[in-house]
Amino acid sequence: NSGAVTIDMIESLSRKSFPPCMQQLHQNLRQNHHLRHGGRLQYGLFLKGIGLSLEDAMRFWKLEFTKIMESDKFEKSYAYNIRYNYGKEGKRANYTPYSCAKIIMSNPPSQGDYHGCVFRHVDPDLLKQRYRNQGIPAESIEMIMNYVEQKHYTLACTHYFEVTHNLKNNNFGLQHPNQYFDESQKVLN
Ligand code: SF4
Repeated sequence: NSGAVTIDMIESLSRKSFPPCMQQLHQNLRQNHHLRHGGRLQYGLFLKGIGLSLEDAMRFWKLEFTKIMESDKFEKSYAYNIRYNYGKEGKRANYTPYSCAKIIMSNPPSQGDYHGCVFRHVDPDLLKQRYRNQGIPAESIEMIMNYVEQKHYTLACTHYFEVTHNLKNNNFGLQHPNQYFDESQKVLN
């Protein structure tokens, strides 16, 4: 855990330090004011992992969801899930954020889902376009796409990390989105 992250920090952290899978979930949540179950789990547990409290998580999700639904509906249909992520419902287990391996290998996203690993689950042409729009240099995009082709998804992500943090050869052995976040914070702070 990286200490206390509060609701007002999420937006700027998402741009600077979230791995691409969590950036994608965050952007779609902001855009659609909704995420489906797989996305809420993957993103919700990640946010817990970076240190967002249950109280802030509840406010955060509610703020978005109630842009398209009554607060009643949110309480009935979604609040349980969030408490569940924090082990406050169901088996009261302490749910840990998903590793890259788990995200890459289980529960692939269907139409309308935004969870998963972008390198494994987003159409390569779309990904290329996304990175061109972001201003990632052509040779870096090529390198990322080569890794994708070879199914080295965490290496593709590591290279994305290097490019977006202006680093060379910063292979920290990526295994977990929360590790990506911690490494990014180390570089930026
Ligand atoms: Fe997320 Fe891991 Fe895929 Fe990177 S490699 S996008 S951190 S699941």
